[in-house]
Amino acid sequence: MSEKKMAPRDQGAPDYTKYLHPVMAKNYGKWDYHERVRPGVLLHVGTSGDKLWSVRAGSPRTMSADTVRKICDIADKYCQGHVRFTSRSNIEFLVGNEADLKPLITTVEGDLGWPLGGTGPSVSNVSHTQGWLHCNLPGSDAAGSVKALMDDLIDEFKNESLPNRVHISSSCCQINCASHGDISIIVQHHHPPRINHKDMQICELPKVVAICPVAAIRPAVVDGVETVEVVEEKCMYCGACHGQCPSMEIRDSDTDTLSIWVGGKMSNARSKPSFMKLAVWGLPNNPPRWPEVSNAVRKILKAYKEGAKDWERVGEWIERIGWQRFFEKTGFKFTKYHIDDSPEALSTFNRSAQIRI
Ligand code: SF4
Ligand code: SF4
Repeated sequence: MSEKKMAPRDQGAPDYTKYLHPVMAKNYGKWDYHERVRPGVLLHVGTSGDKLWSVRAGSPRTMSADTVRKICDIADKYCQGHVRFTSRSNIEFLVGNEADLKPLITTVEGDLGWPLGGTGPSVSNVSHTQGWLHCNLPGSDAAGSVKALMDDLIDEFKNESLPNRVHISSSCCQINCASHGDISIIVQHHHPPRINHKDMQICELPKVVAICPVAAIRPAVVDGVETVEVVEEKCMYCGACHGQCPSMEIRDSDTDTLSIWVGGKMSNARSKPSFMKLAVWGLPNNPPRWPEVSNAVRKILKAYKEGAKDWERVGEWIERIGWQRFFEKTGFKFTKYHIDDSPEALSTFNRSAQIRI
């Protein structure tokens, strides 16, 4: 019987063990200790005595082919070709030979012009979503606002001078690709979607109805066209329906604003994973530098730096001092919109910080 030809398996995560740096592969599961040599440089030492340095730099996230080629050339020269990205888009060059460490750092800072940092108690690279670059939903840019913010926070990236690490994320719609962060910047819409009945795709109607988390969408016939309608009193302006159907337009350059949420984390260290909570809303969506967002983030970081104990994450610090004190210290106004009073919250909202739905 002839052998059946199968397509190569192309889904799922690849076998990462094939891509480990040789020192990492040899010492896998046999590490003795690690230390932070300086901001942006980690050293791992195996029980065998082998050493591996990780040099972490802030990447601009969105890169040209030329830049990627430069990275590869540097990795070939100093890292036996081994380089990787962290989940927050920091780039890490892996160095097995101590003599390569200094020239690598000089090359990364000089030729690439990228700062070293993001290790230990610092602001790591801001994790952002696609924004106007790729996605069909954004009410704001992600790459632009993150660049402006990181320019402003460069010292917090390069120096380990905060109580603990601070993960900042930025999402350009309320569906929130960027997920839970110590500080998170998220677009907010302020009215229900405007429906273009003429262009409604009939095949997608059941999906549009089903996607609304508060059951505000129902089938309707308008001018003889099978379409949907929105029960406006129920709608919470989340924009999930716009992701399902472009004819449910939620974005509005006149009324969309930005909000900042605080206290989320994924890690189980010291306390369990936690959701973010609203800190400030109604910030203008103000390209190209979004100064109001930078100012608000700076206020949070200043209060956190001054008030948190060593190793407290932003959410842990706020829980200890209380939300009233948080608003006093940051100067943000507490409003009725800070109270989550949705009757649907318990049964319909995402209830785990680690699972995205
Ligand atoms: S946050 Fe929203 S708009 Fe931005 S990339 Fe993700 S899904 Fe698209
Ligand atoms: S914006 Fe959200 S709540 Fe409003 S109709 Fe669309 S999916 Fe439902």
